Amino acid sequence: MEAAAAGKAKVVVVGGGLAGSLLAKTIQGDADVFVVDPKEYLEIPWAELRSTVEPSFAERSLIYHRDYLTQGTLVTSSAINITENAVLTADGQSLGYDYLVIATGHAVTSPGSRAERLKEFQRDNGKIESSESVLIVGGGPTGVELAGEIAVDYPEKKVTLIHRGPRLLEFIGEKASKKCLDWLTSKKVDVLLQNSVDLGSLSDSEKSYKTSGGETVMADSHFVCIGKPLSSSWLHGTILKESLDNKGRVMVEKDLRVKGYNNIFAIGDITDIPEIKQGYLAQKHALLVAKNLKLLIKGSPVSKLATYSTGYPIAMVSLGRNEGIAQLPYVTLSGCLPGRIKSRDLYVGKARKQLGLNA
Ligand SMILES: Cc1cc2nc3c(=O)[nH]c(=O)nc-3n(C[C@H](O)[C@H](O)[C@H](O)COP(=O)(O)OP(=O)(O)OC[C@H]3O[C@@H](n4cnc5c(N)ncnc54)[C@H](O)[C@@H]3O)c2cc1C
Repeated sequence: MEAAAAGKAKVVVVGGGLAGSLLAKTIQGDADVFVVDPKEYLEIPWAELRSTVEPSFAERSLIYHRDYLTQGTLVTSSAINITENAVLTADGQSLGYDYLVIATGHAVTSPGSRAERLKEFQRDNGKIESSESVLIVGGGPTGVELAGEIAVDYPEKKVTLIHRGPRLLEFIGEKASKKCLDWLTSKKVDVLLQNSVDLGSLSDSEKSYKTSGGETVMADSHFVCIGKPLSSSWLHGTILKESLDNKGRVMVEKDLRVKGYNNIFAIGDITDIPEIKQGYLAQKHALLVAKNLKLLIKGSPVSKLATYSTGYPIAMVSLGRNEGIAQLPYVTLSGCLPGRIKSRDLYVGKARKQLGLNA
């Protein structure tokens, strides 16, 4: 087992997504920090769709962990087990901890190497470029934002968006769903609701897709944009197995300690906090836990820790480069104003600055 540096508390952060990276960056001067992630880079998730139509955009939205983790240690592997005092990784390491933070968000589907991820965007862009028609499966934020990017950058291509549910963007209000549907329809995107295709039978060589509603969609290529599951199955065999709810989320106290533990915290989408799962909230969790870790390291009792409270749910969905939809307290906006807030740079500059990097 790695020995803790004399005199410094050892903090292991499992998951270097939006939440884990900000926490590690914030706490690294106060503790001996280890970040465990199978990828050598942080990916700003919602920039993926812009990178699909403009691969060079990913140069700024894929950030090497080593760029912000200037005083800590990166362990490029998956965590596979947790004991009372150590995290075990897939590559056979045992990382001792004084404090542990679980920030594993959603399942990992991207390659570990940043260069490989950049190549994926090139390949996907090539697929769009060489297609006259594109089928997108899934009408959540990923499918909707991809449809918006293609409709704006490639207006001559035929885009079909197929969604199993009764409305798009089911994670936010009906008004926002309707505005989104109207916008996509105005851009000549065919939206098929309450329809699905058999994912097992999808293949770009087919070019003809049968829907559950009996329609046939012709498309030269397809993209599957269904939500990724939480990355919590690995916790089932660990000391935290009793701390998971029936949806696989980690149950936390108001100060974001994992229920039943004084030295283990959880942050971001993996938690059972009753709120929309959003990156800006995951970052709020990270800053709160950084503060709480500093208090504990200085010897404060658990009773003095800061607590988290949920706010009104705010959500922004980009629709191409200049427009978007914003669900704000009491009002839902669509068009250029939300577009100016999110769609132009997709908060990439902001996320980079929070990590101490050039925008
Ligand atoms: C299309 C789209 C648009 C969005 N738009 C917005 C928006 O406009 N504003 C907003 O605030 N939010 C938005 N979100 C939501 C936001 O992306 C998430 O809430 C946020 O990414 C959650 O961050 P996280 O750190 O909890 O998890 P993630 O970002 O999922 O990161 C988890 C990290 O854990 C790592 N990991 C997983 N398993 C393991 C393991 N076993 N061991 C080690 N590491 C592991 C992964 O590699 C990853 O780096 C959007 C999401 C999508 C998909």
